[in-house]
Amino acid sequence: MANKHMGRCSCGAVTFEFSSDPTFVADCYCIDCQKSSGGVMSTYLSVPEEDFVLLSGEPKGFQYTADSGNTLVRNFCPTCGARVFTNQLQGFPGTVFVMMGALDHPEAIIPPIMEIFTKRRIAWTRALDVPQYPARPDAG
Ligand SMILES: [Zn+2]
Ligand SMILES: [Zn+2]
Repeated sequence: MANKHMGRCSCGAVTFEFSSDPTFVADCYCIDCQKSSGGVMSTYLSVPEEDFVLLSGEPKGFQYTADSGNTLVRNFCPTCGARVFTNQLQGFPGTVFVMMGALDHPEAIIPPIMEIFTKRRIAWTRALDVPQYPARPDAG
């Protein structure tokens, strides 16, 4: 179990784990990430669906249409309201996007490799030294 990554919502009702080491990590400044997190951006990482294991809790799914026009389902803890992961993103079948802040040990994950929807960036935030995309990157 040495290579397991674990995470949970704010109240601890929803817990999950996965064993792969994510290679895709992004800062997202889209409006939804701002509104749903209450922060100025969110950082998430991709995990193959078959590797993502929900250990406890019953996340509630909220489907919506993103800035890109794609639909996706944002999953949050119905008790504490914490946004935990996103899935069923159109164009990314079989992928779960886990919120970095939900991880017990986020420092075990690589830093963001890109920043997206930077057109929504609030002026006082500073860009990381990684590729910047005004909206969603074309790849994928
Ligand atoms: Zn919770
Ligand atoms: Zn976003």
